[in-house]
Amino acid sequence: MKDTGFFMPTRLIVGDRCIQKNTPLFHLGRSCLIVTGKNSARASGALEDVTSALAKEGVSYGVFDEVGQNPLLSACVRGGETARSVYADFIVGIGGGSPLDAAKAVAIFATNQFENPADVFACRWTAPALPVILVGTTAGTGSEVTPYSVITVDETNQKRSISDPQCFALAAFGDPRYTEGLSEKFTVSTALDALSHCIESYFNKLADPMTDLHALEGAKIINGVLSALPSGRLPDTQQRQALYLASIYAGLAIAKTGTCYCHSLGYFLSERHGIPHGVACAVYLPDFLERAVRCEPERADRFFRAVGTDLKTLCSMIGSRSKIEPVTLSDEEIAEQAVRSSGSKNFLNSPGTFDAEAATVVLKRLFTR
Ligand code: NAP
Ligand code: FE
Repeated sequence: MKDTGFFMPTRLIVGDRCIQKNTPLFHLGRSCLIVTGKNSARASGALEDVTSALAKEGVSYGVFDEVGQNPLLSACVRGGETARSVYADFIVGIGGGSPLDAAKAVAIFATNQFENPADVFACRWTAPALPVILVGTTAGTGSEVTPYSVITVDETNQKRSISDPQCFALAAFGDPRYTEGLSEKFTVSTALDALSHCIESYFNKLADPMTDLHALEGAKIINGVLSALPSGRLPDTQQRQALYLASIYAGLAIAKTGTCYCHSLGYFLSERHGIPHGVACAVYLPDFLERAVRCEPERADRFFRAVGTDLKTLCSMIGSRSKIEPVTLSDEEIAEQAVRSSGSKNFLNSPGTFDAEAATVVLKRLFTR
């Protein structure tokens, strides 16, 4: 039997008004720092729900709202300084994957000072990170339940991951009502991110029976909603709830397996071309699925049966939802991106043998004219 197991130490609560119903969980100390982006935490009502819960529990707070999309390492360092200045006992992250990932990093920088902040990626910090509570406002990254924090290094403009069990939040709240204000662009992009997680987890060399359960169910839900939703239309309440749960299933799957090459090769599309993370990964999914069918035909059969689709239909749905402005890469740029992740877990855990040479083929097919 293949080894299997499950470790996800976050207390996860999903449902309408889940914060109001569980305010004692915010009683983690006397002071905390809320880490968030500029607008959506306020606009979605999540910030007010959190501050009311903190007031009810007698916890004072500061707000650090300098987290942009693809959060910068420098912002996380500043967040750590702010956390110290308000004597924070814990961190509350509110937002999409960007503020949630930043909150995890701020919790590390609050208790650790590095000669070079990029040393944080080596995951050898000495003082324990502050406890973290996360409140999701997008239905995509699953950061609520993963041990990852994806941060952009300012100097290189490259996304890198902190991957450590200490990055699991202590508690995470998911009230799908917070996603109601999401534009079509981010609703679709975040759903595609979660779908990528399901697909890259299911066909990952580290997949096991437990990750399969989450990956298949997540993919079935997301494919169902995106296929039924006409372009230009926003999901209704039930569909939003379904997408939020599916993003959590997807997060639970990658918490164990990690992702594959779609994520690695997607990073430069966000870094250099401003393409939202989910779409940036999804542009590789048709290629990835074809490879999966070639390398693992039986698992692929099971996947399409469980998700209720076939290769052609799924690729066509993904293709229609992940259209981007044409990107053209020079041979040097292709070589740079192909080599950048060569030998990484994401490449090694992809189906078949995926190396710099294989990445070059994929990048040439998609980005040369
Ligand atoms: P995001 O970058 O957090 O947010 C995208 C945009 O959506 C921002 O403008 C944000 O506004 C807005 N927004 C967020 N919630 C909203 C709401 N409820 N209503 C209206 N607008 C809202 O997007 P994301 O796709 O969730 O996160 C992407 C990041 O997560 C990437 O950096 C990616 O690398 C990372 N990621 C992490 C993991 C993991 O396991 N940790 C997995 C996959 C991806 P504000 O700026 O005002 O907040
Ligand atoms: Fe992702």
